[in-house]
Amino acid sequence: MVRYSKQPPRPEAERAQREQSLIATARKSADTRAAGYRERSLAIHPWVCARCGRAFVRENLSELTVHHKDHNHDNNPEDGSNWENLCLYCHDNEHARHEEHLAARGRGIATEDGESASTYQPFANLMALLQRKNT
Ligand SMILES: [Zn+2]
Ligand SMILES: [Zn+2]
Repeated sequence: MVRYSKQPPRPEAERAQREQSLIATARKSADTRAAGYRERSLAIHPWVCARCGRAFVRENLSELTVHHKDHNHDNNPEDGSNWENLCLYCHDNEHARHEEHLAARGRGIATEDGESASTYQPFANLMALLQRKNT
């Protein structure tokens, strides 16, 4: 329960509160998004790791994760064609291999979110702008 006092809140307290609620909102929407595709993948695909074949039941389902085959978290087709159910161990393995793959291609950009590293091109726009300027 939130109780409002008649006294206006001190500005810094108000700002802190606003930041808190912004963070909470962002966290909540990220959670919903993450839960959304996981739920759907688990509804479409069998509860079996696509790599090692380990089968899961409701009790240990938290150890079964959903992997994006193209490593793009934003690519979530409804038919589940970009999702793969992987156990935690195989999921880790898959990402380690993906990072090795990126490094081998000479663009092993270490980002926290390894899955978007392959599609995220921070300098693409900048290069286009520079080129436009020079012509
Ligand atoms: Zn596995
Ligand atoms: Zn993954």
